[in-house]
Amino acid sequence: MKINILDVPFDNYTETEFIDLFQKRIEQQEKTLVVTANPEIVMYAKDHPDYQELLLTEADFITADGIGVIKASNMLNTPLKERVTGYDLFLRLLALAEQKELSIYLVGAKQEVIDVAAQKIRDEYPHVKLVGYRNGYFDLEDRTVQDAIIEQKPDMVFAALGFPRQEYFLKSLKVKLDKGYLMGIGGSFDVFSGTTKRAPVWMQNLHLEWFYRLVKEPTRFKRMLVLPQFIQEIKKLRKG
Ligand code: UDP
Repeated sequence: MKINILDVPFDNYTETEFIDLFQKRIEQQEKTLVVTANPEIVMYAKDHPDYQELLLTEADFITADGIGVIKASNMLNTPLKERVTGYDLFLRLLALAEQKELSIYLVGAKQEVIDVAAQKIRDEYPHVKLVGYRNGYFDLEDRTVQDAIIEQKPDMVFAALGFPRQEYFLKSLKVKLDKGYLMGIGGSFDVFSGTTKRAPVWMQNLHLEWFYRLVKEPTRFKRMLVLPQFIQEIKKLRKG
């Protein structure tokens, strides 16, 4: 069931329901592109038709990554079940890969970050087949990056290039792959490698993760200004 928020069709599943669906699709080798969309992404799509088109026609699933999206869904009287973040899905899918001995490919973040992330996977997930990894600083037109992935035929590709870059990268990769679960995960390798800390659980539970990130990375302030604009747009819809 889809829930429309400012023309972005969100899939209304819990994290566990998503994982069950993804597992089936991975087993059936069905190509799957997943976008974990926060209010910033929704607002970006509103102003960028190419990205909007990608969400509508290329993404197989869109999850609500951010408490702002959940709030918006409540305000519109079409509540989404829960927040499902890219980082949490990444951890669940790593556990699945460990259990089923699946192959994964990692693309994104700075070289020193991805090196630590790769080592952590080798140490903590010994049954995961890490078939390749590389940093996220390359020209999207550089086909050698995609060719290296295609050659490995991974079960899962995680791209942490930030949006919209990661989604454009995965969209073009998806066309050329025969199978694979593809998901953009923003700054997840920075968190996974320990370079950036996620907010403490109590703060996450109070829905204050955004505040924690703001304090840690004040340069995000400008990006966060989009949040009140997002809520404004939802309020306009309610009145209309
Ligand atoms: N990044 C990258 N290539 C780029 C730009 C960014 O690999 O050309 C990485 C960056 O190192 C960081 C992640 O993408 O690990 C972006 O993190 P952010 O938290 O900003 O993600 P977003 O909130 O945009 O999804």
